[in-house]
Amino acid sequence: MSHAHGTRVQAHIGDPVSDATPLGREKLKEIFDDIQSDIRYDHELNGCLNCGICTATCPAAHYYDFSPREIVQLLWTENLEGIYDAMQEKIWACAQCYTCAARCPFNNSPGGLVMLMREAAIKHGMESAKNVLRPFSRVMLKLISTGNQLSPDMITADGFADWGPNVSKIDAPLEVLRKAIPMPTLNTTKTAWEVNLTTSVELYTIWEETGVLDQLETIDENLFDVIIDIMDEKREDLEDWQDEQDEQD
Ligand code: SF4
Ligand code: SF4
Repeated sequence: MSHAHGTRVQAHIGDPVSDATPLGREKLKEIFDDIQSDIRYDHELNGCLNCGICTATCPAAHYYDFSPREIVQLLWTENLEGIYDAMQEKIWACAQCYTCAARCPFNNSPGGLVMLMREAAIKHGMESAKNVLRPFSRVMLKLISTGNQLSPDMITADGFADWGPNVSKIDAPLEVLRKAIPMPTLNTTKTAWEVNLTTSVELYTIWEETGVLDQLETIDENLFDVIIDIMDEKREDLEDWQDEQDEQD
């Protein structure tokens, strides 16, 4: 075991995940610092008894090579190599159900800590994050450009094979059914509801100011370019609409 720079706890318990250092120590430290410096970190990690109650109640632990106890221990002992290893696959098994947070005698939130690690994986453009998010590019496009996550026209039999026999209900004439809804904002199948231009542009400002767009660029440059084009177009549409309003006044 090579722990020349490890903590005293690491020197005592060893590295449960790997002897290999996949990245330079500085980069590993930078990733950990990003996780630890998040304002939520101190609320979600108060210590750890290593009791395993979180893992015993975790649904993901029953089906995957994943243990919230292990994740918390890696963070608590500041095991930089182990944290990096876990970010390659294990953290993506969590279902974010927070059963662990309800059970932990230390009031830790292992699921919340997993979320911080996921955000760091995205920020650092890790392959694991790209692979996990790739199938959701259509949902991300819809969400970021319209504020709607899923629209009726995205519900296809191919996309929802796991619905089993219920998938036949997708064949309903959605265009007609949506037009029958009394609220005009729901008379579309392209979005779950129509979002007006001002709200859309306000959303874009939020995505920009909070760094969501920067993260998207790191993960999927093509999707980022498409979304930027949509944003520019919507901003121009809003300006045109505002000019029209000024002329009418
Ligand atoms: S996070 Fe909480 S429940 Fe899980 S092992 Fe540590 S103390 Fe026990
Ligand atoms: S939030 Fe994640 S780690 Fe916690 S119990 Fe649910 S699946 Fe397990």
